[in-house]
Amino acid sequence: MSTLEIEMFPCLSDNYGFLLHDADADVTATVDTPDAAALAAALARKGWRLTHILNTHHHADHAGGNLALKTRTGCTIVGPRNDAERIPGIDVLVGEGEVVMLGAHRIEVYETPGHTRGHIVYHLPDDGVAFVGDTLFAMGCGRLFEGTPQQMWSSLQKILRWPDATALYCAHEYTAANGRFALTVEPDNQDLLARMRDVEKLRAAGRATVPTTLALERATNPFLRPTSSALRRTLRLEHSDDVNGFARTRALKDVF
Ligand code: ZN
Ligand code: FE
Repeated sequence: MSTLEIEMFPCLSDNYGFLLHDADADVTATVDTPDAAALAAALARKGWRLTHILNTHHHADHAGGNLALKTRTGCTIVGPRNDAERIPGIDVLVGEGEVVMLGAHRIEVYETPGHTRGHIVYHLPDDGVAFVGDTLFAMGCGRLFEGTPQQMWSSLQKILRWPDATALYCAHEYTAANGRFALTVEPDNQDLLARMRDVEKLRAAGRATVPTTLALERATNPFLRPTSSALRRTLRLEHSDDVNGFARTRALKDVF
């Protein structure tokens, strides 16, 4: 199996574009279509031919370039079965437990409702990478536009079952702001303090903080840490369950 090449670039105000390329099979996928022109330019730069769009959810900064790219390339659009009517140009409808092949690369689909009701994420277990859209961010998670805290917490549990070393490609560069919030709920988390120093250096140098890893998120992402006793003390939730811890953290972040 040839290695999967991943090309990542910033676009719009704070999105990332991702191209996945298998040279042997001569196939290339984009995860979402935040900016059709920027994606076309990246494809031209690499000399790659777009064969697939893998959508995570229907928001304009994720599916807004679908039709322009499909018209230009004739690519196949894969997206959530539960939200097919909101995914422009969708050809292949996928859901929980289904597999999409990109050349020799196996891409597993997980349904992660919460940010939107149809959100899905893509995990490539043999490559150790995952594309999590707006479900999980570095030190953050997506806003609950169309789901309950219980739904989002269940969605995040699916991601937490992947190996620690999994590289997580999230769709936005929100890391510094997320970290500033994280410090308000876990001010003494040493992993978090160390990570923020790294993040500030990277951002000052104009560099991306994406991808992150599941190990780093477990240690520093407050939305994955409702069991942290420090976080529970800050939130005054010593005797509550994980869903409540998550819900309270999300509510606080919404007004941060
Ligand atoms: Zn979104
Ligand atoms: Fe987004």
